[in-house]
Amino acid sequence: MSAGPARPDRNAGPAARPDGGAAAGLALCGGTVVTSLDPVTVVAADVVIAGDRIATVGTAPAGVPRRDCSQTLVLPGNVCAHHHLYSALSRGMPVRPPAPQNFLQILQRLWWRLDRALDESAVRLSALVGGLDAVRAGTTTVIDHHASPNVIDGSLDIIADALAELGLRSVLCYEVTDRDGMARAAAGVAENRRFLATPHRLARGMVGAHASFTLGDDTLAACAEAAADSGVGVHIHVAEDAVDQRDADAAYGVRVVERLARAGVLGPDALLAHCVHVTGPEIEQIASAGAAVAHNPRSNMNNRVGYSPLARGRTRLALGTDGIGGDMFAESQLAYFRAMEAGCGPEADWPLRRLAQGARIVGRSFGEPRYGTIQPGAPADLTVLGYPPPTPVTAENLAGHWVFGVSSRHVRDVIVAGDLVVADGRATRVDEALIAHGAAREAERLWARLDGIAPHPFTPKGA
Ligand SMILES: [Zn+2]
Repeated sequence: MSAGPARPDRNAGPAARPDGGAAAGLALCGGTVVTSLDPVTVVAADVVIAGDRIATVGTAPAGVPRRDCSQTLVLPGNVCAHHHLYSALSRGMPVRPPAPQNFLQILQRLWWRLDRALDESAVRLSALVGGLDAVRAGTTTVIDHHASPNVIDGSLDIIADALAELGLRSVLCYEVTDRDGMARAAAGVAENRRFLATPHRLARGMVGAHASFTLGDDTLAACAEAAADSGVGVHIHVAEDAVDQRDADAAYGVRVVERLARAGVLGPDALLAHCVHVTGPEIEQIASAGAAVAHNPRSNMNNRVGYSPLARGRTRLALGTDGIGGDMFAESQLAYFRAMEAGCGPEADWPLRRLAQGARIVGRSFGEPRYGTIQPGAPADLTVLGYPPPTPVTAENLAGHWVFGVSSRHVRDVIVAGDLVVADGRATRVDEALIAHGAAREAERLWARLDGIAPHPFTPKGA
């Protein structure tokens, strides 16, 4: 598509609000407020929102519209640090036999067929469905990694606009790769640059790159250059499967993390997804560079790629779903249980600190260091859980409630940038049934197109 000029309202706040909402201020009254997940801090207070920010945590003044939050937990909104919204219409999709036997075959026979079948309409519906799933689950920001090789130019605006319709915050990027040819690789870099230069109220960008094993030196350098020029980091899959390391060794004679370091990709703005097959020196290199890592335990289990050694240690580890929905309560709970099973023996608040790390990545992207906390001046991204606790809730035992008690079924309200985007369990800005109906029809068309697309022939070295 032709991107065209930026719509003038992309950078503007909401206009007149039928519910009174943030323009008049809003007070969430009487809840148990988790003001921080790392360290865990819990207070009984009203939270007063003015505009897109938290004004006060304490006692709401008279005259501000009030919302009763007694018997609720008021939390910082969750962040999904690695998502693929473009996969949202693949749920239940028939997989043509033979079934994939390994990670590379999963890419060749499933995801690298699906991404080539996406058109503008499917990209939009995928973002709407995936975004709605996330915000209904209490996720206020999605950090997404997008691929649609036959709709590259303008694709990130389609997603940003769809998520803005829902009122969801996002950090977006286009997945640059050489696997679909050099023209599309260049178009991918250009799309990242174009989007990064376009103002959006609720969206920011990174430079997306697929993975070392589908990126030649020139394209990897172009990604690093685009990121440096825009003052952002590269969001890239790293050693998700051993095939990534085998390719780096066979083609370049280095380990993946070293290759990224030499290309200038490794730094405090980088976001590395997975990091399953990394060894001691690489773990140290990642930690020393200050790069963030998105740990996706459900996806890793589903793809049988292994367990990341970074679950323990000093890495800036956040949590992502890698496209398995947007429910970070579910992901963080599974992450905890998997860490226990792996013998990591994580502290009880380990999943909470991982979620706080995701919020810090978002804070970095938006230039909001208080993002992910509930304190005066912080962006007002909050989730209210209708959770009358069956046992006392304190800072010391919140993790126990988190892992063994709460879930997305408790999500009552979600506020993003001061805007009440989910109220009483329903999205306020869109017709959920209409989106589901449109998505189901879109999925039928998408799945039909998929029948005509062969498994992707791209094979890395050393595979
Ligand atoms: Zn991924």
